[in-house]
Amino acid sequence: MNAESSRQLLADVDAYCQELRPTEELCYVEHRFNDQTIELAKKYKLLGMPIPVEYGGRGADALTYARALARIGREGTGVRTFFSGQTSIGQYPILRYGNADQHRRYLTPSSRGDMILAFGLTEPDAGSNPLEMTTTYRRDGNRFLLNGVKYLISNGGIANAVVAFGYPEGKTGKERRMSAFIVETSGATFEAEDLHAKPGMFTANTGMFQMTDHPVPAENLLGEEGNGFRIAMGTLVSGRLSVAAGCLGVIEDCLDETLSYARTRIQHGKPIGKHQLVQEHIAEIEMARAASDALVERAAVAKGASDAAPHDAELAARADFLVAEAKFFATNAAWEAADRAVQVYGGRGWSELYRVGRHLQDVRVCRIYEGTDEIMKLKIASALLGKDFAAFQ
Ligand SMILES: Cc1cc2nc3c(=O)[nH]c(=O)nc-3n(C[C@H](O)[C@H](O)[C@H](O)COP(=O)(O)OP(=O)(O)OC[C@H]3O[C@@H](n4cnc5c(N)ncnc54)[C@H](O)[C@@H]3O)c2cc1C
Repeated sequence: MNAESSRQLLADVDAYCQELRPTEELCYVEHRFNDQTIELAKKYKLLGMPIPVEYGGRGADALTYARALARIGREGTGVRTFFSGQTSIGQYPILRYGNADQHRRYLTPSSRGDMILAFGLTEPDAGSNPLEMTTTYRRDGNRFLLNGVKYLISNGGIANAVVAFGYPEGKTGKERRMSAFIVETSGATFEAEDLHAKPGMFTANTGMFQMTDHPVPAENLLGEEGNGFRIAMGTLVSGRLSVAAGCLGVIEDCLDETLSYARTRIQHGKPIGKHQLVQEHIAEIEMARAASDALVERAAVAKGASDAAPHDAELAARADFLVAEAKFFATNAAWEAADRAVQVYGGRGWSELYRVGRHLQDVRVCRIYEGTDEIMKLKIASALLGKDFAAFQ
């Protein structure tokens, strides 16, 4: 992507965010899904930002896309999570591991906004360790039949197609290797349900679904049969970077909101920004922003280099490591920044009517999804110690 296209995309993202803000705020306080997230994204052509132009996307490089997600993250983790589901973990595995026919059938309509995507790895009994999943598939002529439940899936209740994973039925030992499929969600054999009991992210969809002998055409196998775990792990690196970038946006917004409130709110005869303990909060939020910004940029550059040379194992390992660092740091920094911003706002901060209170509620999940804090620490430490120390083995 050249500098002019990058600048134009970021300008479009900014215009999108400004136009979205009033409905986003209204839907948030009313605790309901915001359908304008998708409608306006269609208008500004944002539903396939890193997808090549030939498939209807904007051809964004990893760094431009990370900056776009940081801007979107300022509007709320719910809005950014929609884009992560659609693009970072929905379109990405199809682009990276799919064939030309799959690109044409899924990337083009999803980039236009005619198709919403999701990524279905997690199950009720398989979270941090997806190898413990129980979803299965079996071959039936020119199709596969899938059985299983996927749980806590971003866009899971609104998706037209999901990249989902399962084991071959009845296989054991070395033959029991996970595969990935592009699963269309229509028909009675696919039952989806929205999950509403969540303390935040009200404007975005989180769902679960059950597949009962759900038919998937043979040509919708993603990558090679048995290669699903590698596809899932590769996709999570893309997803984690999107979470880290979104959290950078959360910190930026908390900083802006805190600065303006500290300048205008008067207590003890002066703006609270003149009280040194309030200045401490501001300095800490700014340090969280600066450090997260640097880590996200470094991770995005590494991810871009790895995507450009998909067979280079060293570049892939470096991207995996730097993205884990950025995700772990930025998600915790955003949680702390939102907490400090709420503190500066006092009683008003502890309210869904103010942006900082909404950020605090929403951003907590970022330390859980796409790999928990604990899993990120294990990845970081074992990357430093060496392969033999990988904690999951
Ligand atoms: C809002 C939301 C959206 C989501 N979106 C998606 C999505 O789009 N697609 C998808 O597939 N999934 C999605 N998830 C699922 C998410 O990725 C999982 O919740 C996450 O990976 C953790 O799995 P778990 O909830 O089963 O927790 P568990 O794996 O049961 O973990 C529970 C606790 O044990 C710790 N733990 C587990 N194993 C270890 C270990 N080896 N060492 C140390 N500590 C450990 C964990 O860190 C955690 O603290 C979403 C979740 C939420 C809440």
